[in-house]
Amino acid sequence: MSKLFKALEVEEVNGSFNMSVVTRSTDDLPEGEVLIKVLYSSLNYKDAMSASGNKAITKTYPHTPGIDVAGIVEESDSPDWKAGDEVIVTGFDLGMNTSGGFGGYVRVPANWIVKLPAGLTLRESMIYGTAGFTAGLSVDAVLKHGVKPEDGLIAVSGASGGVGSVAVSILSGLGYQVAAISGKDSAAFLKSLGAKEIIQRSEMEDSSGRPLLRSRFAAAVDTVGGTVLSTMLRSLSYGGIVTACGLVNGTDLPLTIFPFIVKGIHLAGIDSVNLPLESRPAIWESLANEWKPEGLETLVNEIGLKKLPECIGQILNGQMTGRTLVNLAH
Ligand code: NDP
Repeated sequence: MSKLFKALEVEEVNGSFNMSVVTRSTDDLPEGEVLIKVLYSSLNYKDAMSASGNKAITKTYPHTPGIDVAGIVEESDSPDWKAGDEVIVTGFDLGMNTSGGFGGYVRVPANWIVKLPAGLTLRESMIYGTAGFTAGLSVDAVLKHGVKPEDGLIAVSGASGGVGSVAVSILSGLGYQVAAISGKDSAAFLKSLGAKEIIQRSEMEDSSGRPLLRSRFAAAVDTVGGTVLSTMLRSLSYGGIVTACGLVNGTDLPLTIFPFIVKGIHLAGIDSVNLPLESRPAIWESLANEWKPEGLETLVNEIGLKKLPECIGQILNGQMTGRTLVNLAH
């Protein structure tokens, strides 16, 4: 039986992209094996790109963005899922060209779905959302590289943003000394997450062309790319690692080979979108348990669908602090 639900819809009108909250029907959702009632979603940078007409993300409009969903299975044609299951969906094509989590229902393939782990509520899973999951993947890479708290400072860029703020919280909680790199006046927020040192972004935008800089960091979690990533790579201690997931500082990487062949450093690319399903539960398990920051709630600003356009403007302007949780009941 079809169901009506509220959704944010982005419409293309003469080359402009307008957002409004509309009523949609489950009959209009794409084919898929599992219908999920969405309780929570979250706002990520990619949602803002989709909502503002970035055709590399979303090709056809009208469209409902939302790359994150936490909810309850309503109907399933798959033996893997049954009505009432509490589930998370992030990445794959959700919210890109598949109707996403900024609406009361989604219909998706069974193999996009992860079971909500014990130790995490649906709400908490979306305080993390894709940004938190990506922070988890980044932390996982640092830990697997063998970096220990006593090895020295771990830098995190875009520290007050979604991925950055969760990474600062997790690493601080695990006992690492975190140097938070931020372009905002966010020192109080970052200290409350456990950051030991605050570094102005401008200090990490070295354009001197020097192939190597002073060794400052045992490891780094980069969420912005560009000159900041280049500066981090040139500032690593011997054998260190930088994880790279983002591009808001730029898509070019001005660099020479020297940090790699003189200091034996590593660069780890992070992708949360097409990460195979079987690799996901272990990250969610850690986010639900040993990585869960005490102050997870302090990261969150909770909104309903109506407030999304304003928040989308903020994230596009690099003004967002922490995580924005979208409560579909509001
Ligand atoms: P947010 O907008 O929440 O955070 C980004 C932060 O980067 C801002 O808050 C700001 O933090 C900083 N920033 C903004 N503009 C610039 C700039 N011009 N130069 C340097 N830093 C800037 O976004 P998310 O945390 O959700 O995403 C961060 C990045 O990671 C995005 O590029 C996103 O596309 C990418 N991403 C990639 C994923 C993957 O799977 N590879 C998954 C999720 C996100 P501050 O003011 O503290 O410096």
